[in-house]
Amino acid sequence: MDATGKKIVLVAACALVDSDGRILLAQRPEGKSLAGLWEFPGGKVEPGETPEETLIRELDEELGIQTKVACLAPLTFASHTYDDFHLLMPLYVCRRYEGVAIGREGQAIKWVRSKALRDYPMPPADEPLIPFLMDLL
Ligand code: C5P
Repeated sequence: MDATGKKIVLVAACALVDSDGRILLAQRPEGKSLAGLWEFPGGKVEPGETPEETLIRELDEELGIQTKVACLAPLTFASHTYDDFHLLMPLYVCRRYEGVAIGREGQAIKWVRSKALRDYPMPPADEPLIPFLMDLL
């Protein structure tokens, strides 16, 4: 729990970057919270996992992308209080991976230039991460 008594949820997120410097966004599907919003892919860190292990698992499950710990560089950290929980979310950058990204769970995906990231409505936790990517790319 955090200081306000809210549950802390740890989610790892990744800016997957292609050879043109574009970043992959995935749209949260109908039926999930925040449906329709565009997020940096990733997911909940399960007990016993490191955030890097979570990303390796989630990028494969959600997108058919394979990568390894050495290819995941931590960039920054989101901390956002939602109504019912407090989200802590490290953002990693991954430029070296194998596979061609597809929405394996039916989600729409898009490769987006950093300066166009603001055109895509995002969950409130993801939005503050944009300037870090604009500085980097
Ligand atoms: O993806 P999942 O639903 O497991 O994530 C748990 C919660 O974390 C979501 O309900 C959402 O509120 C938040 N989240 C987020 N930004 C992400 C991924 C998850 O705000 N990129």
